[in-house]
Amino acid sequence: MAYDDSNIFARILRGEIPCAKIYEDEFALAFSDIRPQAPTHILVIPKGQYISAADFNAQASDEELAGFYRALAYVAREAGVEESGYRLISNAGPDSHQEVPHFHVHILAGQKLGRMLGPPL
Ligand code: AMP
Repeated sequence: MAYDDSNIFARILRGEIPCAKIYEDEFALAFSDIRPQAPTHILVIPKGQYISAADFNAQASDEELAGFYRALAYVAREAGVEESGYRLISNAGPDSHQEVPHFHVHILAGQKLGRMLGPPL
């Protein structure tokens, strides 16, 4: 599957639509999820055009990989949720209900998050 650069996160990266930015560097952008599922719900995305974790992990350069995953850890630390705990989720493909086809990791925290999975929709 080819990357579709009309997806909403590509548009955010191009500055065409706004986001509630939390952090940005050369490799990653972090912003608040528009429909938060927990008191802390942050999305972290790479700057490059990757559809999913599999695509990113296979295709990105070592520099991009290190930069992105370090940014992810930094954002979680700065959000102040390391001690209380947090969950990282990255959906990929239709069964996961991935809505936006640009690789992203959700950081969820700020309350007891319950079981890992709810009942299927
Ligand atoms: P996923 O289902 O893993 O693809 O998650 C996509 C996430 O992007 C959802 O949690 C949406 O609420 C979120 N989202 C969609 N559009 C925006 C936007 N413009 N700004 C911030 N978050 C968004």
